[in-house]
Amino acid sequence: MAKIFVEAYGCSASFADSEMISGLIQNGGHTLVEDSSESDLNIVVTCSVKDATANKMIHRIKSLKSKPLVVAGCLPKAEKNTVEKFTENASMLGPNSLGKTLQVIDSALKGRKQIALEDSDLSKVGLPKVRLNPAVGIVEIASGCMSECTFCQTKLSKGDLSSYRLGDIVRQVQTEVNEGCKEVWLTSTDNGCYGFDIGTDLPSLVNAVVEIPDDFMIRVGMMNPMYMPRIKENLIESYDNDKVFKFLHVPVQSGSDKVLHDMKRGHTSGTFREIVKKAKERFDNFTISTDIIVGFPSETKEDFEKTVRLLDETRPDVVNLSRYSARPGTEAAEMKQIDVAEVKQRSKVIFEQINKISTENNQKWIGWRGRVLFDEKTDDGVKGRNFTYKPVFVRDGVDIGQWHTVEIIDATTSTLLGKISS
Ligand code: SF4
Repeated sequence: MAKIFVEAYGCSASFADSEMISGLIQNGGHTLVEDSSESDLNIVVTCSVKDATANKMIHRIKSLKSKPLVVAGCLPKAEKNTVEKFTENASMLGPNSLGKTLQVIDSALKGRKQIALEDSDLSKVGLPKVRLNPAVGIVEIASGCMSECTFCQTKLSKGDLSSYRLGDIVRQVQTEVNEGCKEVWLTSTDNGCYGFDIGTDLPSLVNAVVEIPDDFMIRVGMMNPMYMPRIKENLIESYDNDKVFKFLHVPVQSGSDKVLHDMKRGHTSGTFREIVKKAKERFDNFTISTDIIVGFPSETKEDFEKTVRLLDETRPDVVNLSRYSARPGTEAAEMKQIDVAEVKQRSKVIFEQINKISTENNQKWIGWRGRVLFDEKTDDGVKGRNFTYKPVFVRDGVDIGQWHTVEIIDATTSTLLGKISS
């Protein structure tokens, strides 16, 4: 039996994979260690969504390859050759090959390289897991998506949509809650098209999960706006339940319909406006999170201005801003790229704009008093989430997994600052 170190990067689905890999390792009789200096074998669960991230993964692979190494996650699946360029001997485990975890580890420990990248997992529901945060249960509801976005390498790693059965997911959520989780994240590559391949959909899943009688909250993860018109009425209705955080993460990527067309996003900026309008009409307080890519190859100055205007109009609370980078194997990587200095300038403009918007949005919460679920210890305090999934930081010593009434006394760009009031 070996001592194994696991680390993960990327989206919540990637962290969920690392929790399951750790669960399989423990069930397999191996020991998990906190630091690679103590390990016999290292596993890195990689993300390759952007150039900067992929470079960070390569740096990490190089620093871990002195011992038997398994490179898991999206990078080996999308860029096997890149991984082999930097480490000839590393074994590889694909994001949908978790069932092969122990086999690959056993082989690597014996010095035999094993590549398991084929999509062999029928479902990831019900696998043993070691949670990164005991208060949070990350539940994958599907893998892959139904889109072909031209900038996206995730499609090469995760492939086409494969939804997990609704009943299995509800049982998994019950397990998370039984094992002490107070917050459950429903996550996948694109929640918006969940169930379309098995005759159900996301609102049906949310409605089924909220029937679980225990005291817990649900965060519904990222969804491409493309499929929202099909589900938005029922989805927003399913948010009426107090268990559901009033939070939507809907990546719009650009304010220009021409650029969205060139990205093959399958939606317009109007689709995004509609979703925001619907949520804000139904709920007084609602958190909108979105993603923006600046510098997509076909983006002109006029297109860029449309993105700036869309953000001013919709005022999202959270914007994950990316500078476009040409990912190997993607259609857009073949297009003529925009000058890096110009892309930098554009991202600077939007960076300042979104910080101003989220600071102003957060300052409106000063004086608010209400329940907060604490789910994260930080170096100098504890962070929690209110009903709109707004991060609330307090210096008081409270336990994670606990609810407390908090009064908001100040706000920053990214967080509300509070004090416990009971
Ligand atoms: S929806 Fe588009 S961006 Fe998202 S994973 Fe699928 S192809 Fe990539």
